[in-house]
Parts: sequence; structure tokens; C-alpha cells
Amino acid sequence: MDDLTENTTFADLALRPELVEALSSLGYEEPTPIQRESIPPLIAGQDLLGQAATGTGKTAAFALPMLEHLEGDNRSKNPTGLILVPTRELAMQVSEAVHKYGRALGARVLPIYGGQPIGRQLQALSRGVDVVVATPGRAVDHIKRGTIPLKNIAMVVLDEADEMLDMGFAEDLDAILGALPTERQTVLFSATMPKRIESLARRHLSNPTTIRIEAPVVAKGDAPKVRQLAFMVPRSHKPAALGRILDVEAPAAAIVFCRTRLEVDQLTETLNGRGYRAEALHGGMNQEGRDRVMARVRSGNADLLIATDVAARGLDIDLLTHVVNYDVPSAPESYVHRIGRVGRAGREGVAITLAEPREHRLLENIQRVTGDKIAIEKVPTISDLRNRRMELTLGTLRETLLDDDLDRYRTIVESLTDEFDLFEVALAAVKLTHEATTGAEDEVEIPEVEVRRPKDRKNDRGERGDRDRGDRGERGDRDKKGKKNKDRSIGVDSTRLYFPIGRSAQVRPGDLVGAITGETGLAGKQIGSIEIADKFSLVEVPEKSADDIIRAMKKTTIKGRKVVPRRERFQRFER
Ligand code: AMP
Repeated sequence: MDDLTENTTFADLALRPELVEALSSLGYEEPTPIQRESIPPLIAGQDLLGQAATGTGKTAAFALPMLEHLEGDNRSKNPTGLILVPTRELAMQVSEAVHKYGRALGARVLPIYGGQPIGRQLQALSRGVDVVVATPGRAVDHIKRGTIPLKNIAMVVLDEADEMLDMGFAEDLDAILGALPTERQTVLFSATMPKRIESLARRHLSNPTTIRIEAPVVAKGDAPKVRQLAFMVPRSHKPAALGRILDVEAPAAAIVFCRTRLEVDQLTETLNGRGYRAEALHGGMNQEGRDRVMARVRSGNADLLIATDVAARGLDIDLLTHVVNYDVPSAPESYVHRIGRVGRAGREGVAITLAEPREHRLLENIQRVTGDKIAIEKVPTISDLRNRRMELTLGTLRETLLDDDLDRYRTIVESLTDEFDLFEVALAAVKLTHEATTGAEDEVEIPEVEVRRPKDRKNDRGERGDRDRGDRGERGDRDKKGKKNKDRSIGVDSTRLYFPIGRSAQVRPGDLVGAITGETGLAGKQIGSIEIADKFSLVEVPEKSADDIIRAMKKTTIKGRKVVPRRERFQRFER
């Protein structure tokens, strides 16, 4: 498979038909780069060390080969695939994805994580499971009890391995990997490749294929003249946010890239509902349909083209002013390629990217590769939108006053001024113009997502912050106490400290508060939410006191142990 190119399809990757069918029904049109590179060696049974962040499509990159190897009807009850992930959230997310891809194969997938009653997990295991998706802590619990049969495990995946190490799961990972059959395939995905990951890989992977999606080098002079903006938007608010952004940017002609066909169809409908003339273009359409769409775009009868990468490949549309990435592209190459469609021939173009908070790292990666700054902007508020609409109305009226022959309306104005003040008549006319030109008001507030960068981010880690990082029950605790924790929050000028001591050392919130207040003179009320997991605790403290607390903790002990905190490495995004 040396000849994998941009045009490689899922069928070219020699996946079984049930999987190709599942991907097509999900609207995936082509493999992402990490999928293109990982799937063939994984199907061939090799170990793999891959560098990839969330949003690159890495879940399918390991899930599809795992499902490819599932046996037919007479499957044993014992799992053949094990996927280790750092958090409960990710365990659920990955297990849903594996289930979705493997539905036609009858894949039995079980997420196991702390906080969920172990009885339910045991029942499912005894009924029979093909793929277990587990957090390391809970996996170790099961292994110790002998409740996960490991003897048939043929493939193990360490997903987000750097995060698992950061969370103190190194020993658990060694224990789990040590308990697996030696004849197995091992896959390790990590967003970063620090020395500890390399050493983990050396210990547990055998002669792995190494994959890192290399970035293209963009020659300076070739770079298009493009204003690059990004908006951080929670997924559920994306359609409304895009509508607003387009209202304010008022593109003459724009192309909006989506990941899947389904997304293309849904967004086209939403934007048409908002008064745009939007046309969908994707690989599920026949040539005739596509030609019709392109004709409408080229003649100026459509202002927005909503497309997948595949469908838009090779299209050359001269008049484009804006390119929109409805999701952050899964690879920097794709970003560069997309934005190259505007800013041609010296004209300025605009590239807009909507990013979910968890995709922040992908955005940083793109900036690093392109060397261009992407300005993070705020989604226009309702009042921005109103102002913009007023401007549009003003402009429309001004043009009409300057250019049009208005004489034939004179009789209407004259008859109205018998009854009303001229100024009132003008106001009514403006109202009608405004409503006709700017459409319905959109009153839904879109939450603001703020990107916070801890000052001491030494190792360029930009983690998701919208995710539970706990294991062995702490999420359960957080669910119960979540409200209380939130109430305790001390606001935006805070940071979280990671204390490497937790429930397994019987630590309680009072111990942490006591140590901090005792050593630093900080008042108890200046300390915010506290989350206690099995092996660590996270304590919210005022940003300006963080360094003092770290220094002070070096001189004291908690529960008889020296416990030196550090700033939480995960980047937090807050609403
Ligand atoms: P991940 O990096 O695995 O978290 O995937 C990011 C998102 O991309 C998920 O919403 C997937 O459903 C989606 N996705 C993964 N592979 C593809 C593909 N080949 N085409 C379109 N979407 C994809």
C-alpha cells in the first residue's frame, strides 16, 4: 500500500464491506490522513506508535482495524480488543464510536470506568464482550479480581497515552500491559511524544510503525492573503453561531466545509432557513446534481456552498470571498488547501474556523505549521447583530435615496402626511425596509467560551478542558457534588493545582484547605472547588497565589507525606 494518496477511499484500505457500509451511512467520504496511514499497517498486524490529537479521526484509525479482525458468528465470550483511555467521558465516547462502526458486525462493546456500579460491568462481561474500553484504574480493579478474561486479547490500544501518564496511571498501564498475552498487537496514540511516552513505547511495543502526520511547508511568497479568524463554539451552538458570523461578515460568496454528508445536509437546511441561498455539495450526489449546484454558484444564484472536502476537490470558484471551516480540519494540510481558495490574485480573502473547545490543540497545531496567526474572536452577540442589521438597513436606504427614482411613491407620502407627522412616516418606512432586508431576529444567547492559558505552559500542552479527567469514581463524586463545587468557584482569575495525593491516602478537602491556609496565610474562602480522585486532587486557587502555594507546600506535609503540587497541565476552557 505504498501508493496511498489523497484520493484513497475506505474501500482502498481493504476494510470489510460491513465497515465500509457503516462509514458511508455515517456520511464519511474519505479517510483522514491518520486513518490513511494507520489502517493498513494495523490490518497487517503491526504495532503502531502514532502522534495524533483529538479531532484527527484517530478513534476510527484504531477502531476499524480492531473491528476488521473480529471473528464471525462463533465468537468466544472473551474480549479480543482492549482500549485504554484516560477518562470516563472518553471511555463513553470511544465505546459509542466503536459500537457505531461495528453495528453491522454485531460488535459487543463495553465501556468500563470508575463510578459505575461494578455489578453491571460484571454482568455484561459474563454475557460476552468483544471490545472493552476502559480507564486504567478500573481495568486494574477488574484484573485484580480476575473479572476480565484477558487471554484472547489480540489488540490493545493506549489512547491519549500522554494524558494517562500525566494523570499518574503509569504503573497501572505497566500492570495491565504485563497481564496481557505477549502475542498481541499494541497501538499507542498520543498527542505529544515526550520521553516518557517513548520509553513506554519501547517497553511495550514491538518494532512499531511510527506515524506522524508531517506538515507541509508553505513557501512564504505562496501564502495567500487571507484574514484568518477562529471562533470557539460549543457544538450545539454551531449552527446559530455560524449564522451570526455570516450575517456580520456578509460574504459575497462563501464555501463552508463540513466533515460529513449529514452535516452538509443539515447545515444547508439551517442556513436556508436563515434566509441564505445555500447549496449542498457532497459525494452522495450524482454528477448532474453537482453540475446544477455549481451552475447556481457560478451565476451568483447561490451565496453559500456547503461542501465536504471530497466534493469540493478540484473546484475552482473565482468569486469566493470567504472559506469557512465548520469544524477544524483534521490535518493542517487540509486547512492550507482550503484557505488557498480565497485571497487569490492579490484580493483579500477571509478564512473562518469554528472550533469546539476540545479542538483547541488542532488549531494551535495549524498555526505552528502555517506560521500564521489565527485570531480568536468572539461570536457576535445579539446586540452586535442588531447593530450590524441597522447598518445594513441604513446602507440600503442610502443607496435607494441616491440612485432610485422615488417619485412614484410621492402620492403615498403626501396622503400619509395629511394624517401623520413626516418623521413618523419615515420611521414606518424604515421599519418595513429593516424587516424585509434583515429577516427574523435571533434571540438565543450563545455562551462565550474563553480560552485560558496557564502562564507557565512550558511544554506546549493544550488539553481539552471540557472533560472529566477522573477515574475510579471521582466523576460520580463530582456529579453528586458538582453543584456545590461550582458554587464554590472563585472565578476567572483562578487556576487549578494538581496535588499528587488522593482518596487512596484518605485525604479529605479539609486536609488540603488546612495545609494551604496554614502555610500561606490564604483564607479558606479564597480556595475554590476541590476534586478528589483516587490518586490525586485538584484544587482551585487564585492565580496570583499559585506559585506561593507551590513553594509553601515544599515545607509541609499532608497526611504525613510530602506533597508538592504543580499547576494543572490541562488547559481549561470556561464558559
Ligand atoms: P476523533 O479525532 O477520533 O475524536 O474524531 C473527530 C471527529 O471526526 C469525530 O466526530 C468523528 O466522527 C469524525 N470523523 C472521523 N473520521 C472521519 C472521516 N473519515 N470523515 C469524516 N468525519 C470523520
